[in-house]
Amino acid sequence: MDQISHNDQHKPASRVITGLRPTGSLHIGNLITSVARLVELQKTQECLLFVADLHAITTPYEPKELRARVIDTVRLYLAAGVDPDKCLIFVQSEVSQHTELGWILSSLLPVAELERMTQYKEKTAQHKKPNLGLFSYPALMAADILLYDADLVPVGQDQVQHVELTRTAARKFNKAFGETFRVPRPYVAHDRARIIGLDGKGKMSKSLGNTLNLLDSPEVIGKKIRKAVINPERPTSFEGAKPITIFELHDQLFPDVQTAELSKQCHRENRNCKDYKELVAQNLAAYLAPIRQRYAELAAKGDAYIERFLAANADLARARAEQTMQRVREASGLR
Ligand code: AMP
Repeated sequence: MDQISHNDQHKPASRVITGLRPTGSLHIGNLITSVARLVELQKTQECLLFVADLHAITTPYEPKELRARVIDTVRLYLAAGVDPDKCLIFVQSEVSQHTELGWILSSLLPVAELERMTQYKEKTAQHKKPNLGLFSYPALMAADILLYDADLVPVGQDQVQHVELTRTAARKFNKAFGETFRVPRPYVAHDRARIIGLDGKGKMSKSLGNTLNLLDSPEVIGKKIRKAVINPERPTSFEGAKPITIFELHDQLFPDVQTAELSKQCHRENRNCKDYKELVAQNLAAYLAPIRQRYAELAAKGDAYIERFLAANADLARARAEQTMQRVREASGLR
């Protein structure tokens, strides 16, 4: 699998893109695998970040709340350190070229490939009657990436398969209609690309109610960490990144002597877990505090501030996307 790891970070790449669904509040898995990595990459690479509202409507949602969640998600991006002067932040549905290209790519991707997608199988199990949008989600995701000639896509392990399918779509299109798309790569931190939920039962995920959220107060973090499962049963075989708990993630983020000692005592000897959990909760609360603080400052500026900024960015994103679409329409014979 052509993923790249931390060690490849110095290699120049011209463009990075990622997007997150506006689920209302981002969790630490979203931060670590996507947003924080963009914050790093934006220093040296051109970067784009979007709110994937069209993906959000493929599972049940509340229409009256959707836009507020989109705005909130943008606020969280900014609060987490994404610099709007370095990174183009926009909303997927405001750039209609995404759906146009999504349709064209869905006409190239074999049904059998889409049926293999793990996320589709998981979501189908959750939402008993999946809709067509959920099934063709990876075609839209491929469009999200290919429209902007992106090279790198920072994602967690659960999205790697979709980026692989994006590569397939790009290659198929290029083969059928001539060189049109750049073939992107997933950008995955292998040591922290798959974060287990606090209940220890599977992936950390909003829909499973087992998340540590960026806006959780220190009290909530304390409560959640005290209840979190320390040594969950893990699947014996898994592809790609190893699943890690919030505690293992914490130990990576805070690699000091005190942490290492307490962690060893709790994980290996099953003692001092209360103290260890207290330390983990404190450190994670301190880690997330600046995000909460910046989020509150941005919220005080009101929604209009974000809406204005999004309107200007939608124009920029549309202009770029349209350039690609002109190439695509010509190559595929639509013009
Ligand atoms: P989503 O919330 O599904 O829109 O995902 C946004 C980003 O967060 C994607 O890059 C996912 O791969 C990543 N992500 C979501 N859940 C996890 C998790 N439990 N562990 C690591 N990354 C995750």
